[in-house]
Amino acid sequence: MHISLKSVWMRLFFPARCIACRKVLPGDVYDVCPSCRPKLPFAPQACLSLPYTEACFAPFSYKGSVAAALHRLKFKSKPPYALPLARFMVECLPKDARFDFVTFVPISKKRKKERGFDQAEELARHVAALLYLPLATTLTKTTENKRQSSLPAAQRKGNVIGVYEASSDFCFRPGQRFLLIDDIITTGATLSEAAKTLRLAGAESVTGLAVAKTQQKH
Ligand SMILES: [Zn+2]
Repeated sequence: MHISLKSVWMRLFFPARCIACRKVLPGDVYDVCPSCRPKLPFAPQACLSLPYTEACFAPFSYKGSVAAALHRLKFKSKPPYALPLARFMVECLPKDARFDFVTFVPISKKRKKERGFDQAEELARHVAALLYLPLATTLTKTTENKRQSSLPAAQRKGNVIGVYEASSDFCFRPGQRFLLIDDIITTGATLSEAAKTLRLAGAESVTGLAVAKTQQKH
């Protein structure tokens, strides 16, 4: 493996930590320490079917150390957690899957300003780099709806209808295949709505990819 001088310096001053227990990792280990790796909550089934998508993938169940890592990424503004999580996301994609762009389910401009970054965009940036694909900002969130996590499952579908618009800055052309990134899938309503918006704008196909799926039944 090629190790650049910059990465050696980064490692010296900002040692990589295990995404689960947060201990400093040995020099040749990335992302998760050997004692935490077997305890990661890998999803029993990584592939889900959601409306408007070809398929949807998530390597983890939303619990334990992965729920904690996502919480740190989202609410404690810890973008360094995005790269290790993105590596697991890419690993769970079928080897023969082909895409033209990586894109993401955005938060609103207002919320991004408050938080300083968009967690799905951070994940998408790393997924795009790992797959050698362009990152495209294709959607904007035009309505500040209630947080999905604050609503019972039955109300979540209605809560997301019409909240996304295709971005006028992106040029949709026939045949484009998108890999659509989000952080967590609960009922799938949010990801489906974003996929629907892309398909209506002209996307040939949309495949979903998230870090984790909650265990909640639809
Ligand atoms: Zn650990």
